Amino acid sequence: MSYRIGIDYYQTECDEKKEIKCRACKAVMDVSRGVMTRTGPYHPKSKMDTFSCPNNGLPWHDKKVKKIVRKIRDSFW
Ligand SMILES: [Zn+2]
Repeated sequence: MSYRIGIDYYQTECDEKKEIKCRACKAVMDVSRGVMTRTGPYHPKSKMDTFSCPNNGLPWHDKKVKKIVRKIRDSFW
């Protein structure tokens, strides 16, 4: 199971967002609040809310995620 940050996985400041919808499937994402998370390799751990799509890992969902990733990449170049 792998998450794509910015599509079916988000980290926000505590209580910054009530809910986030998955960019791939528009489902309301599962949230864990106040989790100690490292936000980057050189960042200290801090308390964050993490959102993840309940449909992550399903084949049809993967396809949608990949489509979006491709779209983002195309608009980059
Ligand atoms: Zn989703």
